[in-house]
Amino acid sequence: NKQIILAKRPEGMPDKDTFSFIDKEIPSINSGEVLIHTLYVSVDPYMRGRMADVKSYVQPFPVGEVMEGGVIGEIIESKSSHFKKGDFVLGSLGWELYSVANEKAVRKIDPSVAPITTYLGVLGMTGLTAYFGLLDIGKPQAGETVVVSGAAGAVGSIVGQIAKIQGARVVGIAGTDEKAQLLKEKLGFDEVINYKTEKNIEKAIETACPNGVDVYFDNVGGDISDAVMQHLNNFARIPVCGAISSYNKTEADIGPRVQSKLVKTRSLMKGFLVGDYSNQVTEAAEQLGKWLSEGKLQYEETIIEGFENIPEAFIGLFEGTNKGKLLVKVAEP
Ligand code: NDP
Repeated sequence: NKQIILAKRPEGMPDKDTFSFIDKEIPSINSGEVLIHTLYVSVDPYMRGRMADVKSYVQPFPVGEVMEGGVIGEIIESKSSHFKKGDFVLGSLGWELYSVANEKAVRKIDPSVAPITTYLGVLGMTGLTAYFGLLDIGKPQAGETVVVSGAAGAVGSIVGQIAKIQGARVVGIAGTDEKAQLLKEKLGFDEVINYKTEKNIEKAIETACPNGVDVYFDNVGGDISDAVMQHLNNFARIPVCGAISSYNKTEADIGPRVQSKLVKTRSLMKGFLVGDYSNQVTEAAEQLGKWLSEGKLQYEETIIEGFENIPEAFIGLFEGTNKGKLLVKVAEP
């Protein structure tokens, strides 16, 4: 059983030496367990946080242990009455070709409802993050201006579209012209700023948001967020989802202070975790599924092939290689 372990804690940007490949025997399963063949592995920015030995909302990955995250697989052997061979399941499983899991650790997914990959993206963790952060904290109203950073990624691309469904004007911030084109032409964003080619982001935001910013969905932190904050309207809402620009920083992440801007505009800035909303997942996933089936919501995926490419795929998140949800396809269903 090929597995990928955390070989050492990265300092700054992770690289190939952060991970190593090992080969172990596949354990036999006991009563109440299933053997799962890994099909798709999700790579996510939050995993960078778990590679550091710091106190957080989840335990750090132990060095020398198998990396873990969202996985979709197929049951190939079952000693559980809940699952049979051929069932597709979702769980937090190892970066390995085969996983043994307790029947309570995985959940069945239905390929007749939506393609199985969507359970790791738009109908899964990242889609739900967009949904809860935007609707519960951002509360966009028709006619308001919503700015989203990391706009072409798994979360951002869904945030912008839900904001459009609510009737808002949507401005995205992303790292390539190709991403900007996708967001505008396929996903219905009103404006997109390419932060890598735009020399003066603050000016670009002012131009793209002539009526100011009512909601800023923050995926990236850093300079981009500092610039957006200058254009907040009174009573703006800022769901703080992530700060990917700081995840590989080795020095303290210090920027302009925002407190007086928040006071003057009486804005709300609030961090959140998708896990805070676990009791509302069923309704949210139903609503996302409904928008998908009605064609109101589109989803993008970047799928990299091959188990051995998981580390490189993960590193690619910090280089902007992905459009929409980044997944690694390990085996054919
Ligand atoms: P994405 O699919 O958005 O992938 C990451 C993207 O971030 C890249 O494609 C890249 O696009 C952009 N990026 C990378 N480095 C930088 C940088 N230095 N500055 C600006 N942009 C950068 O990932 P997700 O959608 O899965 O996650 C987005 C954010 O949401 C992350 O911060 C993540 O940690 C957070 N998150 C939070 C959750 C929560 O519960 N609070 C749950 C899930 C995600 P580009 O080409 O535009 O640079």
